[in-house]
Amino acid sequence: MDWWVSQPKIELHAHLNGSIRNSTLLELARGLGQKMNAVSADIEHVIMKGDRSLPECFRMFDLIHICTTDHGTVTRITKEVVEDFAAENTVYLELRTTPKKNETIGMTKRSYMEAVIDGLKAVEAVEVLFIPSDERTESSKESPLMNDSSKTKKGNQIYVRLLLSIDRRESTDGAMETAQLALEMRKLGVVGIDLSGNPVVGNWLTFLPALNWAREQGLSVTLHCGEVPNPEEVEAMLEFHPQRIGHACFLNEKHWKVLKSSNIPVEICLTSNVRTDSVSSIDYHHFVDLYHAKHPLVLCTDDPGVFSTSLSREYKIAASTFGLGRGEMFQLAEDAIQFAFAEDRVKQDLKKTFTSVRGELS
Ligand code: IMP
Repeated sequence: MDWWVSQPKIELHAHLNGSIRNSTLLELARGLGQKMNAVSADIEHVIMKGDRSLPECFRMFDLIHICTTDHGTVTRITKEVVEDFAAENTVYLELRTTPKKNETIGMTKRSYMEAVIDGLKAVEAVEVLFIPSDERTESSKESPLMNDSSKTKKGNQIYVRLLLSIDRRESTDGAMETAQLALEMRKLGVVGIDLSGNPVVGNWLTFLPALNWAREQGLSVTLHCGEVPNPEEVEAMLEFHPQRIGHACFLNEKHWKVLKSSNIPVEICLTSNVRTDSVSSIDYHHFVDLYHAKHPLVLCTDDPGVFSTSLSREYKIAASTFGLGRGEMFQLAEDAIQFAFAEDRVKQDLKKTFTSVRGELS
C-alpha cells in the first residue's frame, strides 16, 4: 500500500455533503430525475465535470442538497463518508455539516442532525468512536454508543467529532438556533461551530452574536476566512481569534503578520483552492510559506466528492509538489492532533496510535 494511504491521518475540514461519493450522487440524481420526469443528463453533466469555479461549486452544492434532502439519505451519506475516510486510514475525522430544515418532509435542524448520528451508528466497516469519553456510561443507558461492536473489525477504529456549520445565507436567529443545537448535542460528539457557505454572500457580522455565544458556552469555532478578497472581513475575523481558520487564500501582508503572530492553525485545502481558482497554481500555494514559518497547519480535503480528491491524495500532492519526505508528512499529520477540537483523552489516544505506527516504520 502506498505510504500516503497507509499512514494515519487527521481530517479537520470536510463538509458532509461535499464528501458524497460520485456514484451515490449519480444514483440519487437519476432516481430524482425519474421521479420528477426530468431529464437527468443535465444533472449528470454537472456531476461528472472535473473542474469547477467557485460559483459553479455553490451551484453544485445546491444540486447535491436537492438530492440529499431526506433523513434516510443524510444517514446513508454520513455512513459512506465515514467509511471512505476510514478506508484510507483517517484515524480522526472532524466532519462538518449545515443542519437543514425542510417543513414539507418534517425535517428540523435537530432531526437532520439525528439522521447524521444514525449514519455514524450505521457504519459497519470500522468501529466509530463519536461519544465523548466522559459521556459514555450515561448515554449508553439510552442509546447505543456507537455501532454494534460485534460487527466491527478489531483494532480498526475511527474517532469522529462533528462541527455544525452556519451557512452565510442564514439570519442571526438561524445562526443562533444552530449554535444552540450544537450545545445541546455535545453529548453526541458535537465539538464546535463552523462558518461557511458562499463567501460572496452575507456579512459575517450577522453571525457574530451566535459565534460569540457558542464560544462563551465552550464550543470551539472555525471560520472560512479569506476565500475571496475581502480585507475588512479577514481583519475582523483574525481579531475575533477563532480556534482555527479554513483556506486563508486572500490575505494581505498585514494579515499574514497578524495570522503568524496569533498562531491560529490553518486548515489547508490544496485541491479545492486550485480547482476554485483561489490560488493560481499549487506551486504558489501559501502552504509553503506557512510550513517553512512553522505555522500550525493541517492538510484537509474540504469536499472530496465535489473536488474528486481524498485525504491520501492531498498528502501525496503536498509531498511531491513541495518536496517533502515521508517522515515530514508523517510529522505533519501527527502535529495536527493538537489542533483537533476533541477532548484531551482522544488526543492522547491518537498520539499513541501515531507512536506505535512510527515504531513499526522504523
Ligand atoms: P453540508 O454543510 O454538509 O451541506 O456541506 C455542503 C455545504 O458546505 C455547502 O453548501 C457550503 O455551505 C459549505 N461548503 C463546502 N465547501 C465550501 C467551501 O469551499 N467554502 C465555503 N463553504 C463551503
